[in-house]
Amino acid sequence: MGRIIDGKELAATVRDRIAHRVQLLRQLGVEVRLDAVLVCGESDAASRVYAEGQRRRCSDLGIEYQLHELPTGVTQRDVAHRIRALNADPDVHAIMLHLPLPDAMDTYRMQSLIAPGKDVEGVNPANIGNIIHGRSSLAPCTALAVMRMIESTRVNLRGCRAVVIGASNIVGKPVAAMLMDREATVISCNEFTSEIEALASQADVLVAAAGVPGLVKQAWAKPGAVIVDVGINRVTAEDGTRRTVGDVAFEEVSDAIGPDGWISPVPGGVGPVTVAILMENVVAAAEAEGHAGE
Ligand code: NAD
Repeated sequence: MGRIIDGKELAATVRDRIAHRVQLLRQLGVEVRLDAVLVCGESDAASRVYAEGQRRRCSDLGIEYQLHELPTGVTQRDVAHRIRALNADPDVHAIMLHLPLPDAMDTYRMQSLIAPGKDVEGVNPANIGNIIHGRSSLAPCTALAVMRMIESTRVNLRGCRAVVIGASNIVGKPVAAMLMDREATVISCNEFTSEIEALASQADVLVAAAGVPGLVKQAWAKPGAVIVDVGINRVTAEDGTRRTVGDVAFEEVSDAIGPDGWISPVPGGVGPVTVAILMENVVAAAEAEGHAGE
């Protein structure tokens, strides 16, 4: 069995450090603040649950949280206006935009409006572009979480073979770019990649972010590999119960990598670290704001 990359434990460590940094900022007279924009509509249920959780997490860490609920029927211009107002407000350190936006709105355009220094989800093209420059402080949180998990195993990334399954803008592509920045030899796979099993089975580091339950099987895993499972898939078990699984067939892959390998579980893996990294980005944005103009 492989060793577990414990996301809950890692997240708790990140949160402890954040709480300390929030206190230091308070001593300097800075109240760290995150503002979230939520456009009400048919598909806002998940965003609302997420927003409530976020309010609690902020409050636990001493971060002020403001939710801006824009009523159903608002236009893209209204959303743009709100984002610009938050950009201009010196009390707001961090901005996030809940997705999905209504179909009529251009998500890319709205994300592009968020001031890069306040863009704690790392969705503004400037922040995504900065990853290529090796500056990933406000990069997409899930990608940062994956890197943090890999680093926690102390694997030597330089020259290692890394395979990233999935190439979305918020997970697969930034993870691949960050691994390249660490001088790994990176193969990016998508649903059209041929002989993916053969590629995966040579990987020292394997990141699964396809959204396909149980995609990565025993034969895909190299003994001693580091496996990070990003997938969050809701499936119905044989007994009819619903549960959350990742993209990796955990038991068999854990067996395949053996005691020298590392594997992250789902749930309790990338998810909690992603949430903690968002908070870390909020604090980093507040700290950087204090140094603006230096
Ligand atoms: P996406 O749908 O935007 O992209 C999926 C990618 O996987 C695409 O590049 C696609 O080509 C590739 N893919 C699909 N099927 C494949 C296959 N059979 N073989 C190889 N590649 C395949 O997905 P996303 O937003 O990047 O999310 C991926 C998964 O990660 C989902 O399960 C999602 O729920 C999860 N996720 C988790 C977190 C977290 O914090 N833990 C955050 C974001 C996404």
